Amino acid sequence: MRAFEQLLAESVKNHGHLCAGQVIGVRMAMAALERLGIEDPRGADRKKLYVMVEIDRCATDAIQSVTGCSLGKRTLRWFDFGVMAATFVHLESGRALRVTSREEARELAGKYCPGIGKKEWRQVEAYKQMPLEELFTFQEVQVQLRGCDLPGPPLRRVQCALCGDWVQDCREVEEESRTLCRACAGERYYIPVKRLE
Ligand SMILES: [Zn+2]
Ligand SMILES: [Zn+2]
Repeated sequence: MRAFEQLLAESVKNHGHLCAGQVIGVRMAMAALERLGIEDPRGADRKKLYVMVEIDRCATDAIQSVTGCSLGKRTLRWFDFGVMAATFVHLESGRALRVTSREEARELAGKYCPGIGKKEWRQVEAYKQMPLEELFTFQEVQVQLRGCDLPGPPLRRVQCALCGDWVQDCREVEEESRTLCRACAGERYYIPVKRLE
């Protein structure tokens, strides 16, 4: 696998700035890949890895950069839990590793880089040096991956009986013998104003 500094530089370029989250995300992904035995996630091993992230914060971009997994490739899924954690799944062996960023690492940053005044830069430098066991908690887990969540052509496309939108990947809802999209079934996040021609 590429060296830490190179992966960090790529991730900073993709993300747009250097921040503590980039260091955390790069180190988290590298540690998980090493433990799962995945050496070349963006090349020869690209079909072996699946990642579930639990937060939409800086570190998530770093995880995407290192692993090459993405929403568009359906190799990355986002669970909106607000927890700085991610589960890395080896699709061939089924082995899954959940890595959580330890809250204690924030305070420990002072021990590693006491000379750096600004908290954010202290964390950036400290997180580069800190041993993995101070930065992260590792947990073996089991995950049930559904066929409709995996890469490949959609298993199903159906039309919503109310709005007419087409729903892929088994995300439709059956309600009173009607097939609905999730918006029409009550999860709409927008208010329709006007249809533009
Ligand atoms: Zn950031
Ligand atoms: Zn609908």
